[in-house]
This record gives sequence, C-alpha cells and structure tokens, in this order.
Amino acid sequence: METLGLIGGMSWHSTATYYRIINEMVSAARGGHASARIALQSLDFAEVRDCQVRGDWDRAGELLAEAGQRCVAGGASAVAICTNLMHKVAPQVEAALDVPLLHIGDAVAAEAGRQGWRTLGILGTRWVMEETFYADRLARHGVAAVAPDAADREIVDAIVFDELTRGIISDASRATYVEVIRRLADQGAEAVVLACTEIGLLVSPEDSPLPVIDSAEVHARELGRVALGQLSDAR
Ligand code: GLU
Repeated sequence: METLGLIGGMSWHSTATYYRIINEMVSAARGGHASARIALQSLDFAEVRDCQVRGDWDRAGELLAEAGQRCVAGGASAVAICTNLMHKVAPQVEAALDVPLLHIGDAVAAEAGRQGWRTLGILGTRWVMEETFYADRLARHGVAAVAPDAADREIVDAIVFDELTRGIISDASRATYVEVIRRLADQGAEAVVLACTEIGLLVSPEDSPLPVIDSAEVHARELGRVALGQLSDAR
C-alpha cells in the first residue's frame, strides 16, 4: 500500500474528515485490521492564518513546502494539501517535492466530469472565490466556476473563519449558505462545489438547493484510491 502524505491542520476539523474517509476506504477494501499508511503533518493553523491575513504567501508557501518535505521524509509517495485555499501556494509546494502533489481542483473537476456538470457555483474563502488560481485549475478540465456576488462572498468568507475553522456549526449560517446557493443557481450553476474543506460539516447535500460536490470528500476519496493502488498518482 502507498503511504500518503497529508499537509493538514487547516483546519484540523477538516483534516479529521480526510483521515476518517481514507481509513474507511482502506478498511472496506482490505478488511480485518487494515488501515491507511499516512504521513500527516498537521500545521498550527494560527501561524498559517497569520500569513493569510498579512498577505505573506511566500512564508505560507515555505511552511507548506517544508511540511510536504517532512511527509516525504516520512515515506509518502504522494502528497496532498488538505485545504482549497492553500492551493494558492501549490506551485511552491510542488516545486519543493520529488513526488506528485495531488491537487484538490483535479479531484473536484473529475467529479464534475463524472456527473456531467460543466458549470459549478463556488463557495469558499474570498481568495478561492475571487482569484483565478482555483477556477483556472477547474478550467483545465473544461469546468467553469461561477462565484457569488461581493456581499455574499464577504459573508461566506466570514462564516468560514469566524465559525467553521473554529469548529462552530450554526443553523443560522447553514440557512445563509442555502440562500447563497440559491442565488448561484439563478446565475446558472448546475451544482455547487463546497470549495472550503469545512463547509461539508455545515451544509449537507440534503440542505442544498443544488447538487453538491464536497471538495474534502472527493479529494479524500481520490487519495484513498491512490493509497489502495486503484488510481495512478501520475498526472
Ligand atoms: N479549509 C479551508 C479551505 O479549504 C480554509 C482554511 C484555510 O486553508 O485557510 O479553503
């Protein structure tokens, strides 16, 4: 079995989702006491968040690249960043590694392809919704992204950092997200990507007026397939 490298802790609430899904897949496939080989680097999110707020993406890239190298030193034959936003520094991390970096955007686009969706509404942190690094990765696979308007982006981002990354789940915020998803449907989205790895802890497919792609779930499931050797990690 392959050893997976996970760069996590951003936040730990969603890294726990990755850990659970990957282990559940290995357990289901192998049975008995089988569990996944994982080299986990769980960062101090306060340090990463400080870089985000200061706009110091070079330092953030260093933190993640060093964590990725520690995963490889721990035996990882492929590495993943367990957050959407921090794929902003994916090129830096990739350049520091001699093993593949399994990009969350590729896993999201692959699921959209399986479902036949070409236009996804995007919910996440402000950088994911406003900058091009995430939408461009989806576009490589022929998937277009539609972002909420400025007022909705502000509230979606605030709920991520004031609540979800601190482990706070509230009915009021779920209702707010549902309204935002409704407006994304009006803008032509066929489905919504929960492009922040904590949003799936708040909004379930049953809550959503559009079909949902949970980025944490599809990324973790792809990693599980790599761990089991069911999917080539070569891109
Ligand atoms: N986990 C979040 C994401 O998927 C945001 C937290 C962060 O990485 O800053 O984008």
